[in-house]
Amino acid sequence: MTKRIYNFSAGPATLPLAVLEKAQKELLNFKDQGMSIMEMSHRSSTFEAVLANAKNGIKDVLAVPDTHEILFLQGGASLQFSMIPLNIAQKDKNVSLINTGIWSKKALKEIKKQAECNVVASSEDKNFSYIPSISDQAIDQQSSFIYLCSNNTIYGTQFKQFPNTNNVPLVADMSSDILSRKIDVSKFGIIFAGAQKNIGPAGVTIVIIRKDLLARSDNNLPAMLNYNSFVDSNSLYNTIPTFGIYIISCVIDWIKDQGGLAAIETNNIEKANMLYEAIDASDYYYCPVEKHDRSLMNVVFRLNDTEEKEKEFFQEAENKGLSGLKGHRSVGGLRASIYNAHPREGIEALIDFMKTFQATNQSKSQVMA
Ligand SMILES: *Cc1c(COP(=O)(O)O)cnc(C)c1O
Repeated sequence: MTKRIYNFSAGPATLPLAVLEKAQKELLNFKDQGMSIMEMSHRSSTFEAVLANAKNGIKDVLAVPDTHEILFLQGGASLQFSMIPLNIAQKDKNVSLINTGIWSKKALKEIKKQAECNVVASSEDKNFSYIPSISDQAIDQQSSFIYLCSNNTIYGTQFKQFPNTNNVPLVADMSSDILSRKIDVSKFGIIFAGAQKNIGPAGVTIVIIRKDLLARSDNNLPAMLNYNSFVDSNSLYNTIPTFGIYIISCVIDWIKDQGGLAAIETNNIEKANMLYEAIDASDYYYCPVEKHDRSLMNVVFRLNDTEEKEKEFFQEAENKGLSGLKGHRSVGGLRASIYNAHPREGIEALIDFMKTFQATNQSKSQVMA
């Protein structure tokens, strides 16, 4: 077998090796059914047990209260930018949105097609390098919901606490930090996430919705765009992405094996701190994000050097099996995505590489200068 590299890709992202090995072992003959999980009916009892394990597993590890429903949908996180206002925006009411970068801007654009949407806080003035503060009083109680993105995959910022919104449902795009830490689900009206960063393969979107909000959906919505279709059918309104659900179910079991979200969170803090400390301790690298708002999932950094050198860094790292470190095409620079499944050894290898690269290149430019 060829050697697995360290994968720092922002998404689809690295999965736990134990999960991949389990899937490989079970591929040809799943639970003695003589076929793979991909080849069996989504209405078979064998598959339904997998779906139940995924759903109950998320409920357990994230402590989702009975007031909330867990759904598995398709269309990526991006479909939710439209589906959320279609279902829960109320007539003659506005929507409030906190703008922390490209993903919240994309949501804004789609929400505006359904409702008036006001940006109530933004960090655009400093190129999204921080999380804007919003006082609880500033939240417009007349909004049908308030929208934010909990972790900004591209800019490397993350909400460490969430606003108290009183009666206004808080809607959060958690695509890049769901299941990375403990959260109080009861504070949210809707949490949604594409699976491909922290939960499994691309093709499944997880939506956790407070049940009372389901009454807001108009009966005339297309069935595939109405949350109720999926609530009423246990996410089996149509053919669910069965293989994706299976991998999610395995990832949830893996999270439990690690000790649940408390242990995952501790590990994530330690991993991110190792990397941020290495960046801060060096005069060759820097992190453009304000310290208290730095993401534990996406570590954005730059070189105190030319963009050409950043390209060289990226290329040399690729050659050394440290893959996917290029920053998002819209912002440049470098980014190490270190989701739950990214092993500590990968971060140690990256730090070693950074030291060597600095030693080689910094001295060279000093000699030339
Ligand atoms: C990746 C990402 C998305 C887009 O997800 P798709 O499943 O590709 O639609 C949306 N929001 C955030 C925060 C992301 O990181």
